[in-house]
Amino acid sequence: MLETKKRGLVKRFIRLITFVDLPIRRKFSLFSVGVLFWFVLLSCVSFYVLVDVNIKTSQVVDRLLPYERFAQDALRSSNEMGHLLVDLSEAGREQTVTLKSERVKASLMAISQGLEPLQSPKMASPLHLIWEKISRTSWIDEEGNQNYLKTVTQSTQTLMQLVNEITFLKMEQLQSGSVDQPKLEQLTGRFVAAEAEMTNATVSFLESISHQTNRYSGAITTTTSYAFWMIITVLTLASGLLAIFTFWISDSIVIPVSSMIAKIHTLATGHVDLTDKIQVRSDDEIGEMSQEFNDLMDTVHGMTVFKNVIEEDATLEDVYSRMGEAFSTNVGIENYRIYEVNSDYKGMQAVFPVAMSEKELDCHPDILTSCDLCRAVKTGHPISSLAYDRVCKQFMEDQTKVHVCVPMIIGGHAGGVVQFVFEKEGEQALSRNEIEQKVAKAEAYIKQSLSVLEAKRLMNTLRESSLRDPMTGLFNRRFLQDQAGHLIAGTLRRKKNIGLLMCDIDFFKQVNDQYGHDAGDQVLKETSAIIQKSVRESDVVVRFGGEEFLVILTDIEAGDAMSVAEKIRSNIEDKVFMVGPEKIRKTISLGVSEYPGDSEGFWQSIKYADVALYRAKETGRNRALRFEESMWTAEEF
Ligand code: GH3
Ligand code: MG
Ligand code: MG
Repeated sequence: MLETKKRGLVKRFIRLITFVDLPIRRKFSLFSVGVLFWFVLLSCVSFYVLVDVNIKTSQVVDRLLPYERFAQDALRSSNEMGHLLVDLSEAGREQTVTLKSERVKASLMAISQGLEPLQSPKMASPLHLIWEKISRTSWIDEEGNQNYLKTVTQSTQTLMQLVNEITFLKMEQLQSGSVDQPKLEQLTGRFVAAEAEMTNATVSFLESISHQTNRYSGAITTTTSYAFWMIITVLTLASGLLAIFTFWISDSIVIPVSSMIAKIHTLATGHVDLTDKIQVRSDDEIGEMSQEFNDLMDTVHGMTVFKNVIEEDATLEDVYSRMGEAFSTNVGIENYRIYEVNSDYKGMQAVFPVAMSEKELDCHPDILTSCDLCRAVKTGHPISSLAYDRVCKQFMEDQTKVHVCVPMIIGGHAGGVVQFVFEKEGEQALSRNEIEQKVAKAEAYIKQSLSVLEAKRLMNTLRESSLRDPMTGLFNRRFLQDQAGHLIAGTLRRKKNIGLLMCDIDFFKQVNDQYGHDAGDQVLKETSAIIQKSVRESDVVVRFGGEEFLVILTDIEAGDAMSVAEKIRSNIEDKVFMVGPEKIRKTISLGVSEYPGDSEGFWQSIKYADVALYRAKETGRNRALRFEESMWTAEEF
């Protein structure tokens, strides 16, 4: 538990530092900033090291080296002085003008010319050199240096003075052959002391310089080595981070994109498992794209499954309810209604969800009888009040709602309309964009359904036409044979009765004979319409024979059939038929029976109705007679 929590934290930290969940542009901007940061850091380190090494080197080169050179010169000068002293003492001993030492010779020459011995160039060079340097030196910055300079200055002056004095003494010795020995010794002693003082000061000064040089070079080595390790560390850190970043970026970009490409490729070839999802690895655009792709696959999968299912559905009603299910479950639209335009393209009806009363509809009920009033049916394209308020006059003026009506184009006509209604205000209100997205998705389902709807409607029409009489539009005997079972079962289940009215037009032959067959047909059609209108919609009118009709009254109470028969009879009696210019009247006779009241057999009850009809004809026509058992005589039937 703790282990997984820790791993989760590490993962989150890595996601944070590799910017996985940031938008791509931000990701790369931050990456550039990161690279720049490391670059600047490296540059700063390098610059610092360069400056530091430069300062220390120039300390050594510009300060310590000239000190050292000066000190070396001073040392050499004092040595030279020592040699000079040796030369001079030798000069005294040899008592000859052929002196070995060029310098002594030169100084003696100078004296003979009335000059100072040190004015001779050869004598003067070492001390003068140092003297010149002393006068040009400006390193008075440090106390140690000042002291040393002072010592060297004093010693040099002393040594110069002593050289002069000793040289004069030697001169006298060479000329007179005698010398003031104690003075010479005293001068020589002072010379040696001054030279020693200068040498000692110089040596210790050189030591201090060497110490300082060592210190600087040690510092340079330390700085360089620190810099080296720092640069190595920064480089390692930067490359490590870069590697992690590159790995995660490629992980979160390359893998989803590659799998998407692979999916699209397999989709193109038709072999793809639509339920197999792409892993969403990041919260950036790529993650969003993966999610969208998965949603798309879901939709495609949903559509495919949806189409397969509705193709296997038995009835149009099943398909409509399946569409409704898809709208609410897959699309998320709760308020919708599917309308079906009737096959005569005149009226339309709400088929799903079925409206119990006209008040439930969001549209004016007039559209149910003349579907052309529906703008979507009329124009054949979607009608949306999002684009234009109150675009359709039939939509009930409810200002809190918007509607989008999508026609279902079947066989070149609007075979139906799906109406989507959305709240305009309040908590459940959606943005225009959201509504459009939902409708677009719902439209995809509608499109998938169109071919199935067309096939099912065509089948229904075919079935209908085989069960209907083409001239009158009434059901035929075949329908009766097909549906009798359902009718009987339903009635018995509901513990109701079926009324059976067998009708036959009186003296119909006369119409044919007098006005021709066409006029007969005309009267037949009008009679059919009157019968149909005289009964409820749930009742069934069958053209039983030429001018014989069987009316099946469903779910009636026992004894109710006669009143309907009487209504039909009187409606026909009242009707004036126009046959060409002439007006004629016809009557009708009816035999009435009830099932299961009269007989346990349905077909037997029909027979009873026929018997009652026969009796009505016999007893004068234009009447409705209820079947009675007495009518059923063995002799006659
Ligand atoms: P009643 O029933 O009162 O005894 O007299 P009726 O003249 O109606 O006698 P019947 O039932 O025997 O005659 C039926 C006639 O209806 C026969 C036939 O010519 C006519 N008929 C049947 N089918 C059609 C049809 O489809 N069109 C036309 N014009 N006439 C038809
Ligand atoms: Mg007849
Ligand atoms: Mg007849």
